[in-house]
Amino acid sequence: MNKAPWYQPYADWLRLTKQEYDLVQGEGTMESLRRFRWVACLMVPLHIAMAFLLDAYQAPTDHPGLQDWADIVERAHWVAAALVTLGGVAAHYFLRQARASAAAISLQILVAIGYFYLGAYLSIADLVANAGAGLSSFMLTCIMFGVLSLMRPAISVPLFLGTYLVFAYLLRQAPIAPAYNNSLSIVAFFCPLLALVASLMVWNQFAKAVMLRRQLSRSNQALVAQQRELAFLADHDTLTGLFNRREFMRQAQQALNRAVRAGVPTHCVMVDLDYFKKVNDVHGHPVGDAMLQHVAAVLRRGVRSTDMVARLGGEEFIVLLPDTDRQGANDVAEKLRLLVRSSPLVYLGVELPVTASFGVSGTGRGQKAVVESIYAAADRALYVAKQLGRDRVQYAAPEPSELAAPPV
Ligand code: GH3
Ligand code: MG
Ligand code: MG
Repeated sequence: MNKAPWYQPYADWLRLTKQEYDLVQGEGTMESLRRFRWVACLMVPLHIAMAFLLDAYQAPTDHPGLQDWADIVERAHWVAAALVTLGGVAAHYFLRQARASAAAISLQILVAIGYFYLGAYLSIADLVANAGAGLSSFMLTCIMFGVLSLMRPAISVPLFLGTYLVFAYLLRQAPIAPAYNNSLSIVAFFCPLLALVASLMVWNQFAKAVMLRRQLSRSNQALVAQQRELAFLADHDTLTGLFNRREFMRQAQQALNRAVRAGVPTHCVMVDLDYFKKVNDVHGHPVGDAMLQHVAAVLRRGVRSTDMVARLGGEEFIVLLPDTDRQGANDVAEKLRLLVRSSPLVYLGVELPVTASFGVSGTGRGQKAVVESIYAAADRALYVAKQLGRDRVQYAAPEPSELAAPPV
């Protein structure tokens, strides 16, 4: 067996890290642009304020070089205010699109480069004139973008390295005494280096947080779906999708109670498929299951949306007909009987006829009853329908003794 090379674990880690970074790149760019939009709102007035302050600045007469410095820095702040405004508007545009396009990523990088260049320019102006705050402008922009802009290493490493090289080059071109030049180059090296370290840490933390949040959101979605399924299973039959016996009993009792108060009748129709065992025996259980699903759909189609169809178990169904009297219930049962017998199941191109027997029972206006008594009477009616030859509708009134007052 071939042994994996020593670097394999590192290569795998690199590959996985790259995949992870690819996945969060878009979110990183959008978050960076969101942050930059805030920075722009803050920095544009600041740049303008600095420009005005420098405009009002009067250099001491014995230091005319300082007046030149103030003019240069003032111009730089005006240019920065204009460019940051443009960048902020562009960031706003990309955020409105809510999609991290290549152009959005380019803007993120351009903004960082622009600010690095401004920092470098201001620092060199300070150093040349021996004014302002020396390296601090460059240091500030490096650290600010290292922390604020979320950049993956593939972007941040060349960006900070390039920034340093450009700064060192500009420093060499600037009229600064060569004696200082080397020391400044060395100290300046730490600005992008520290910023890079901060940037790598911030990015890594951001990527981990995004991955964790996505994982949490996925398991949360799965949990919600599971909860929904469990809630469905609690009151539905899995094979037909109809309500189950328990839910029927609950809803039927509620309907009976409401009917008493409203002074309206309520009826139930019990349905039992005829010779269903034969379907299983001759064609097999899967066909029997398909038949049950088919009849469930036929029953559902045959009643109003305010009626309720449930599967009691096996090949027995029950329909609750609120606000329906005996005549109305008989009519519905008869209609369903004809509908079932005229709707054979077509299975693999073969027509399998189906009929059912129906037992009707219920309460009249203002009549109180517990659901069990209506159910028992409908079952008796169904038994008679079977005895009389099946494929028919029978009615049975609930026993007066069974019409005990329910807890209304
Ligand atoms: P009858 O006309 O007297 O009602 O006769 P029947 O054959 O319909 O009634 P019986 O009670 O003898 O048989 C009911 C059959 O229903 C037996 C059982 O195997 C079948 N059955 C019950 N539940 C399911 C189910 O979920 N799937 C399938 N395929 N068959 C079922
Ligand atoms: Mg049965
Ligand atoms: Mg049956």
